[in-house]
Amino acid sequence: MQNRNEDFNTNELDAIASATAPDLGIDPAECIAPEPTDPCTIVIFGATGDLTARKLIPALFHLYLNDGLPRPFQIVGSARSHMDDQQFRNKMESALKDAEVLDPEKWPTFSTHLHYRPVDYEDPATFDRLAESLRELDSSQHTQGNRIFYIALPPTLYKTVAEMIGRAGLSTENTNGNGWSRMVVEKPFGVNLQTALELDQSLHQHFQEHQIFRIDHYLAKETVQNILMFRFANSLFEPIWNRRYIDHVSITATETLGVEHRAGYYERSGVLRDMFQNHMMQLLALTAMEPPSRFEADLVRDEKGKVFNSLRPFATNNLKDHLVLAQYGAGKADDHQLPAYRDEPGVDPASLTPTFAMMKLFLDNWRWQGVPFYMTSGKRLAQKITEIAIQFKSVPHSLFRHTLGPSIVANRLTLGIYPEEKITLKFQTKNPGARVCLRTVTMDFNYQQNYAGPVLDAYEKVLIDCMIGDQMLFWRQDGVEKSWSFLTPILDRCEDCGDQQAMLEFYPAGSMGPEAIKRLTSNIGNR
Ligand code: NDP
Repeated sequence: MQNRNEDFNTNELDAIASATAPDLGIDPAECIAPEPTDPCTIVIFGATGDLTARKLIPALFHLYLNDGLPRPFQIVGSARSHMDDQQFRNKMESALKDAEVLDPEKWPTFSTHLHYRPVDYEDPATFDRLAESLRELDSSQHTQGNRIFYIALPPTLYKTVAEMIGRAGLSTENTNGNGWSRMVVEKPFGVNLQTALELDQSLHQHFQEHQIFRIDHYLAKETVQNILMFRFANSLFEPIWNRRYIDHVSITATETLGVEHRAGYYERSGVLRDMFQNHMMQLLALTAMEPPSRFEADLVRDEKGKVFNSLRPFATNNLKDHLVLAQYGAGKADDHQLPAYRDEPGVDPASLTPTFAMMKLFLDNWRWQGVPFYMTSGKRLAQKITEIAIQFKSVPHSLFRHTLGPSIVANRLTLGIYPEEKITLKFQTKNPGARVCLRTVTMDFNYQQNYAGPVLDAYEKVLIDCMIGDQMLFWRQDGVEKSWSFLTPILDRCEDCGDQQAMLEFYPAGSMGPEAIKRLTSNIGNR
């Protein structure tokens, strides 16, 4: 196979090198094409809601346009509202228009795959009727009894709907390969350890673990998946990926948006449940885990579980040493006035819900002993950023100290996920000139510049993986429990022991966050 990188063939030596070290990569076009999947029906509960309109139907339509859906496939919307197939199709057409992804030429054929069946979550007979409809579709459309049940409902209904699906016989799988049944649930998986265990118990009454797909759409982002490739497909970084060379790690996921229309959910959740229990923990696990022996779902999830096991529990009687919680007050962005969280529609005017958190945590294991991980997430901040920054230690001895002083800026590797999908390495070079002056320069790899092909949206990726039955990017129950085991004592301390008010700081909307973060970061670089 010929090496595609022509820079390597600039002289004879390079030609020999490239001949002896063949490029084992595959054609990028082959990478984007989803694996072939079984025919199936995708049943969406909560099909009249926001997630269906903004994410699921646009993702399914986009997959359809790119030949990414199985043949045949059917989509059945389901909710309490009454409407017929045509009304549902009209609603979904508007949703695609709103999302600016409607292709008027392809829509008419796609829409014939859409159906609507109302259900009442209190009435088992409506689920029996749904089961009957699905059997009819199987025989008229040849979907072979393979079904995905996507639960796009408020979390309080997860248990009920799983129970109803099970009672209608829809969770039972055939043993001959066809006739599989999978359930997809969105976060939040409970609101603490106890409720997560209860939820799991009810899901497992009718579904086995291999049938349950707990989504964390962060994991389906290309750049997030690339963290493992970057670490374990290159020999350069892994030897220095440890406490000997790394000073600290910062994991950041900030937003400029406020609570928007989700106050009902957010008031009960707050930033720790909304971001830390799931997305931030996954980013931490990918950054800190050991290499699994093979790239297989359970082996990868085993290694992540070990990271969660290593989390050093917080001293809950002294949370302020490790945690800053804050809420946005009124502020400004681009000369627009922004309201305080407490003045947002649906928010309690005396709310103590944190919209920002910074956490300093440690992993008690061989690789990471003594290395602080700073995890920061918040709403209504100055910038929307998602990134993982690996701050390396300074050089042990500065031979330039007579001219430059003792400190030289240490290397920093940033895995950027948003706004730019890129990898950046900062290092020192000499400034041209007679004097010895150093400057920091960067070496960048930017996904957009280096790959012009199509990219799967996170929801497209999770839908495909669910159709294939690959659980790599989904939470396994033990991971959910471990993450809650770490967070629940913190939440209990903050919420139930009268500390909520004492813990809460404030920051102006549109700012860089609360001043109090200095409390956690003041000794960075002095270790
Ligand atoms: P919605 O609030 O839009 O609700 C979805 C549907 O559920 C509604 O259309 C409604 O349908 C039904 N519903 C709402 N309340 C009740 C109730 N009390 N009893 C019975 N049915 C009810 O939710 P989303 O679509 O925003 O979210 C769905 C799930 O996905 C949630 O768990 C959410 O946390 C999660 N999620 C959502 C995201 C988003 O961007 N929207 C992002 C990540 C996760 P009907 O009345 O017709 O039955």
